[in-house]
This record gives sequence, structure tokens and C-alpha cells, in this order.
Amino acid sequence: KRMTGVEALLRWNHADHGFISPSEFIPVAEDSGLIIPLGTWVLRTACMQAAKWDLQQHDPIDISVNISAMQLKDPKFVDIVAGALAASGLAANRLELELTESLLMEDVESNLGVLKRLRAIGVNLTIDDFGTGYSSMSYLKRFPINTLKIDQSFVAHLPADKEDLAITTAIIALARALKLKTVAEGVETSAQAQFLADAGCDYLQGFLFSPALPSLQLWTWWEKSQFAPV
Ligand code: CA
Ligand code: CA
Repeated sequence: KRMTGVEALLRWNHADHGFISPSEFIPVAEDSGLIIPLGTWVLRTACMQAAKWDLQQHDPIDISVNISAMQLKDPKFVDIVAGALAASGLAANRLELELTESLLMEDVESNLGVLKRLRAIGVNLTIDDFGTGYSSMSYLKRFPINTLKIDQSFVAHLPADKEDLAITTAIIALARALKLKTVAEGVETSAQAQFLADAGCDYLQGFLFSPALPSLQLWTWWEKSQFAPV
């Protein structure tokens, strides 16, 4: 029952247009190529924020950043990640990059090279939305990943749904056997949390703990929450 990390999520509250959903602006950023500078900004901001929290003398928490296909294909990507770490002073093992299965499967050979270089600088790698994309068991063996993030669609109907129960139990067992960590996302009820903890899931994420918050509010939540380090 300890807070170990946060996932950086991008939100846009526009001065004139109000709240613009990421499902609207991310595809536009991807189509226009703006996802590269935007993604770089997110990486740098997230690393800076984690380093800043360290200075405020909390126990160190990890920060997860979602990576898009175009960023992974960018020949400068590894340098951008290294640059974000260097500029913030954040230790590489505190940064997790979340990559979806479909993104990884797009160009396996070249992705493999990039992932190996990222691991070489010490960054942790997570497969996001695990179980929903095009899954191949062989890449679990080949890709140098650290964590599987169980998609929220499998978590939503736990523990009542027998199929979801079987799937999540199997993913956790597979991950443990492969010495990978598991994160369950979309955890909203204590019954889900209890089932996942009993099944051996390492980390839980979701509204049961908190909705997404701006960094300052997160700090307040953290200070007050039962998950604050003692
Ligand atoms: Ca994610
Ligand atoms: Ca996700």
C-alpha cells in the first residue's frame, strides 16, 4: 500500500475552447508530426517534475511516459530520452516508457535495436494496454521489457467475470515466470484491487486511488493520502 509511481498524462485546457480531449489533439499531433516536439516536451517536463518532487523530499517515485509510434521511429529518440534525463538529473531507472503492443509490432527489428539502446541507458520499458493488440509470445522473449501493463478492459469486470479473471490470472502468471512486473490499470473498486493483489499483480493504478490530477494537486493528494510513505 505504497505509492511507487505516476503516469504522465497530457491534458489541454485551451483559453478559448476549454478542455480539449487528448483523443482529439493527439491524432492531430501525430498526423502533423507535432507529436515529436510535443512528446519531447512531455518527456522533459515529466523528468523535471519527478526530479522536483525528489527535492521536496518525498520518497522517490517513478514516472511513466507514453510514447507514440512516430517518436520511436525518430532516429534521435534515444538521444532525446537521454537529454531529458540529463537536463533533469533524474536517474534513468526512475523513468518508464510505455509502448503499446501494436507500436512494437510495427517494425520489430528496428524497434528491437531502439529498445536495447534504451535499456542500455537504464530506462525501464513497459508494454501498455497488454492483451488488446496483436500479441505475439515470441516478442515477450525477444524484447528487453520490464513490465506488462494489463489493459483496463480486462480489469473492469473483475472479479465477477470468469473470462477476465482467467485472462488476468494468466497474464500475471506469465509475467512472473518471465520475471516481468505487472501493473493493472483501470482499478476502480476494492474488490478488483483485492483480487489483483491476491493474484500477485505488483502494481495497481486507477480511480480507486485517484483520477488524473495536475502535479500540484497530486502533491496535496499525496500528502493527505493513506498511500503516503511513512
Ligand atoms: Ca499508458
Ligand atoms: Ca494504457
